[in-house]
Amino acid sequence: MRGVAIVTKIMIVSRFAPSPNGPLHLGHALSAIVAHDAARDANGRALLRIEDVDAARARPELVAEYRADMAWLGLDFDETAPQSLRLNSYAEAVDRLNTDGLLYPCRCSRAEQAHEKPAAEDRHADRTTPARCRVCRVGIGEVKDDEGSAPVAWRLDIIEAMRCTGPLTWNDVRAGPQNARPDLLGDVVLVPKHAAAAYHLAATLDDAADEITLVTRGQDLFAATHIHRLLQALLDLPVPQWLHHPLIRDESGEKLSKSRFSASMADRRRSGEDGRKLAQSLRSGKLPAGLHLS
Ligand code: GLU
Repeated sequence: MRGVAIVTKIMIVSRFAPSPNGPLHLGHALSAIVAHDAARDANGRALLRIEDVDAARARPELVAEYRADMAWLGLDFDETAPQSLRLNSYAEAVDRLNTDGLLYPCRCSRAEQAHEKPAAEDRHADRTTPARCRVCRVGIGEVKDDEGSAPVAWRLDIIEAMRCTGPLTWNDVRAGPQNARPDLLGDVVLVPKHAAAAYHLAATLDDAADEITLVTRGQDLFAATHIHRLLQALLDLPVPQWLHHPLIRDESGEKLSKSRFSASMADRRRSGEDGRKLAQSLRSGKLPAGLHLS
């Protein structure tokens, strides 16, 4: 139609994607609120996705607690399929990357690994040992005599992958346009020895399957986004926007974490605290004593 401006508005679809391996704390509350409000305030969809691909670490009994935590905060999420029901899509992507010659097996035990330190911090670093695996790179595809049946992990050959895609960019709605630097994390593991997919691969595929248009998560996963952008290009997946939010830290500047026994939402909920009030305080940047955002 001539003379009529047609404005296409993309509906915001966001997600909160906790891994059920420990009770949620205030840092998760903030992530959940950011994801929820970004979508709901714009009449979009906010999804809760349970990232349970690491079956050995997943504690299914926590999922009901997570739902109760969200309701307690006054957040209204639609639920999407957990990762344990999406294993086929991970296997297909791994086949494709392997056929394209972009994966190589890593047979190192942790003790054997002679890894370089990655240039960027990554919350998932300890699980993926994200650096070039020099031991395995020496003889890609070779199997040491005594290790024929030992489980292998599969790493992404970052340099080759970047060569395939060429330069990539992505956008963070707070930090602005970014040039992708997947090399900062090195040859990340995409398939760990004992799971169908590592976080980077599973989350990227799920975000596409769930038609996420805005990926919100903490600043500690900023570097991971470079990898996710690369995987999107390699696997022809849609490219969302990102929003990395500041983290809640304690007096020593450490971010809250499940492993550091930060007070759980479930404990707060059971103690009778008002979750909606807490959510309002977090929204306005008012944190409990001793905590700050940065
Ligand atoms: N399950 C991931 C985590 O808890 C989610 C990270 C993300 O939002 O991408 O670290």
